[in-house]
Amino acid sequence: MESRTGREADPAVRRISESEYEPVIGLEVHVQLSTRSKLFCGCSTAYERQPPNTFVCPVCSGLPGVLPVLNQEALRLAVKTVLAIGGTVSAFSRFDRKNYFYPDLPKAYQISQYDRPIGRGGTVQAGSTRIGVHRVHLEEDAGKLIHEEGGSRSLVDYNRASVPLLEIVSEPQIGSPEEAKAYLEELKAILQYIEVSDCNMEEGSLRCDANVSIRPRGDPKLGTKTEIKNLNSFKGVARALEYEIARQVQGVRSGDRLVQETRLYDPDRGVTVAMRSKEEAHDYRYFPEPDLPPVVLDDEYVEAVRATLPELPAAKRQRFCTQYGLAARDAGVLTCEAALARYFEEACATSSNHEAVKNWIAVELLGRLRDAGLPIQRCPIAAGHVGRLVGLIDDRTVSGKMAKQIFDEMFSTGAAPASIVNARGLSMIGDRGAVEAIV
Ligand code: ADP
Ligand code: MG
Ligand code: ZN
Repeated sequence: MESRTGREADPAVRRISESEYEPVIGLEVHVQLSTRSKLFCGCSTAYERQPPNTFVCPVCSGLPGVLPVLNQEALRLAVKTVLAIGGTVSAFSRFDRKNYFYPDLPKAYQISQYDRPIGRGGTVQAGSTRIGVHRVHLEEDAGKLIHEEGGSRSLVDYNRASVPLLEIVSEPQIGSPEEAKAYLEELKAILQYIEVSDCNMEEGSLRCDANVSIRPRGDPKLGTKTEIKNLNSFKGVARALEYEIARQVQGVRSGDRLVQETRLYDPDRGVTVAMRSKEEAHDYRYFPEPDLPPVVLDDEYVEAVRATLPELPAAKRQRFCTQYGLAARDAGVLTCEAALARYFEEACATSSNHEAVKNWIAVELLGRLRDAGLPIQRCPIAAGHVGRLVGLIDDRTVSGKMAKQIFDEMFSTGAAPASIVNARGLSMIGDRGAVEAIV
């Protein structure tokens, strides 16, 4: 039986933790690679908030007789990702046509990778477990359909067509909705650290489909899975999975046979609804793309890309614990973004009281940034000033209470703490004689 945590209030969660079934989850994540141009043509990817169909050319709009050419930067970012998760970069990979008919696809096929993906293997840390990655492959994005409200028309915008995507497919090894969320957070942190994608889920540069099945606890055999689509946030992924697991358990208990199907998450109602069954699934008739040569990479290329990898989130967390004496939890908070980690280290360069620096950043600063809707990159306080403020408290120039006021002023004006203290005559009077004279 699970311990009595606050989560027990949720009936869906309670049903599962007490059940004799365990969930098995596998995630398929698509990230938009941060290249300046599209995957097979020179069109710019800076189409956000631009008029529809103005970032297209004969190649990405699928006119006959044109030839795609692979974007080398997209390839490099894909290789970098495979290396960052500890996977194996394929010495030989190739592109395939995935055929389906839908107006968002001007060629009626998507150029993707089928049996020869750019990468295989690797792991992503999710909480205390490492989740295996099955494969990583490159593909082009589709256009965007806009269904007119109440109207009978659908409009299509091909600006996004052929923008490079990387699909990262996990093994079915994730054991709970929380673990799925942790996997996504870690993967996002890695992708942002290595600067292959901004991973902005609202703008669609990170998308996730979740596959889930249940099985009798401890059974090595996989159960029948459903695939959940329309997941718009990490929290949504966890909620959709909780609902879906409870639905499957309930189904099995009442004697139903689960069917393999694709289901849509409805975030307003918090439920998943059937979209299409396996029988209705497309036959994509994959075959090798004849217009693109295979991608053959030598060790020299792979090692040159490996040399560009920065310190990754897991290593940085570890180092923050040992070098700055942080608790694992705090190290996790401060390393979730590379820019925040850099800020913390810069602040620590001006104060050796790392614990206090951590508190000022993790509590006071992050709270104010959140309220102001600012990312750490646009933080009004210079990192070194945080360390200096800690120094003023530690040498008893100012009290903790005064420091909060000073911090507020630092946040609104960007001024250095010492100059605020001087300008406002805020410093504490530590000299006994001086105090006695005033008294
Ligand atoms: P499909 O052919 O339906 O796309 P894949 O074998 O390619 O299925 O797997 C897609 C995703 O589903 C992967 O992330 C994989 O880990 C996950 N998956 C596969 N089988 C199961 C299962 N029985 N239960 C949960 N997840 C699964
Ligand atoms: Mg799939
Ligand atoms: Zn183009």
